[in-house]
Amino acid sequence: MTGRTRIERVELHVFCFEVEDLGLPEHGAPGVGNIEYRKGGRLALTRWAVTIDTADGARGEYVTHWVGTPAALGQALMLAPHLLGRDPDRREQIFDDLKRELRAYDHMGHGPLDIALWDLAGKRLGCSVSRLLGGFRERLPTYASTYHGQESGGGLDSPEAFADYARACKERGFRGFKIHGWHDGDVAREIANLRAVRRAVGDDFRLMLDPACEIRTWMDALALGRVCDEVGCFWYEDPLRDCGISVEAHNRLRERLATPLLVSEHVRGIEAKAAFLVGGGCDMIHADPEYDMGITGAMRLAHLCEAFGLDVQYHACGPAHRHVMAATRNTHLYEMALIGPGMRNAVPPVYACGYSDQPEDLPADGCVPVPEGPGLGVVYDWEFITRNRIQHHVFALG
Ligand SMILES: [Mg+2]
Repeated sequence: MTGRTRIERVELHVFCFEVEDLGLPEHGAPGVGNIEYRKGGRLALTRWAVTIDTADGARGEYVTHWVGTPAALGQALMLAPHLLGRDPDRREQIFDDLKRELRAYDHMGHGPLDIALWDLAGKRLGCSVSRLLGGFRERLPTYASTYHGQESGGGLDSPEAFADYARACKERGFRGFKIHGWHDGDVAREIANLRAVRRAVGDDFRLMLDPACEIRTWMDALALGRVCDEVGCFWYEDPLRDCGISVEAHNRLRERLATPLLVSEHVRGIEAKAAFLVGGGCDMIHADPEYDMGITGAMRLAHLCEAFGLDVQYHACGPAHRHVMAATRNTHLYEMALIGPGMRNAVPPVYACGYSDQPEDLPADGCVPVPEGPGLGVVYDWEFITRNRIQHHVFALG
């Protein structure tokens, strides 16, 4: 199927699933950062899937991981009708139009549609996405990215718990370990935790710190950054309550710290990320095919960094993330996010092909593989998705 065709149908499937032994704190808001260990708990999560059907009988698919929020779904519902009748191979033109359509918003609903178009292209050509992009590597060195510290007992509730889990991840074969700390921005506790984890894993292991914008003052962010220097962190990520968008704050941190700053997870679009980088807001750009307008958007960011002789780091995990990392020279580690002791990665259990972002499935070399089949190279369990479906939005020609 290499001739021209057109998009006839776009569907968004919203579905639920539960994850054992996870829960939420008292307020119950199911944000990424609120998930905690709770023995016997059953955390109910909602994610959504995209399918795109063409006149020649092909189908592109994508099931969201961490971008699968109600806010992003709202944007995808705005965008989906704009795909109807279009040539699906005109991904650049579609990218440009969808980008403009969401100019008043944060663009987070764009990525899943673009990823499904790449899956479609690969399936129509009988070729994996990473081969279409141009492969650079087949094995992806992987780091363990933790859930946040929790106040209730269990899970990652203390520096000792973080240290024990970091040691276990190193022994399991992970190539690095990233701490997501507690929510109260208590810099003394974060410093104690960072030192405890470094002592546990030794000096020959990549250690990263991501306060996820919980540190309340610039002076506290500087103090914590100095301990990143002391323990030799590989990078220091999104420390501040500016929510990772202040060029000035990060520039002044970079003047004083040796540890490279990874910031821009929450700066959206190549123009804004370029300005952030040129302004001195970070040493590495953070890119995510879900957050950053798809595979089309993520590859732009890799090449933006390449233009400056700098590195990109991909955020989070999933089949699309693996394909873009496989096609990128200037990057380091694949993020298995989020995991913790006795805590499953809460990505949806929708893979019928052995694809996994669970820590027990990490291969012995500490590298996850890149799926080799056509498109994204994964087989989705549509029986599971449709059985658990709570909303079904259909956009069709005619
Ligand atoms: Mg982060």
